[in-house]
Amino acid sequence: MRLLLVEDERKVASFIARSLRENSYTVDVAETGEKALGLVARLTYDLVLLDLRLPRLSGVEVCREIREAGLEMPVLMLTARSLVEQRVEGLDAGADDYLTKPFALAELHARVRALTRRGFHKGGPKLHTADLELDRPRRAVKRGSQQIQLTLKEYALLELLMVRSPDAVLRSEIIEHVWSYGFDTETNIVEVYINRLRQKIDQEHPVKLIQTVRGTGYRLGMPER
Ligand code: CA
Repeated sequence: MRLLLVEDERKVASFIARSLRENSYTVDVAETGEKALGLVARLTYDLVLLDLRLPRLSGVEVCREIREAGLEMPVLMLTARSLVEQRVEGLDAGADDYLTKPFALAELHARVRALTRRGFHKGGPKLHTADLELDRPRRAVKRGSQQIQLTLKEYALLELLMVRSPDAVLRSEIIEHVWSYGFDTETNIVEVYINRLRQKIDQEHPVKLIQTVRGTGYRLGMPER
């Protein structure tokens, strides 16, 4: 899943971003509201974490512009304890939830999970494709009764394929969702990770679930006859 963090304080931003990345989210950081609006216009995010106190364009204004542009991704506001009025203004501007600084990381992760679950078009805590199951709250994957251990990136890739199954996912979309914006798209990183997933998910099973769609990308589902 891909998140956008809008925060001008560099230390706070890198602390939050690191913690989210460790939990297998892909995180882009924008230091200003202007940059954030440029990114949401070009890329698809599952959630925006929006600090309300930004230089020039405020978080409230950014949120309002996101909604006025017709974008419906969840927005989680990060506010200071004292600013009750700003919080109300933020919710009125279309934010979905808020978190008061300073917050515990566990609370941040809980809010992010709740909002992204709601925001996902094929929601639900568990995803299924054939006998493959992905349990989001536990971040656990199994095929049949066999538990499968995945790295953070492998998990993020599989989650994307399962959410979109039975449709194909473009190679460029995979890079955009699993790796960060600006990642070198000329590398064969997607192929490398697809091969690793195949070894873990398909190798020991007669029915292969990861399908290559020639010239396009990959798809998760039963092989076509
Ligand atoms: Ca700030």
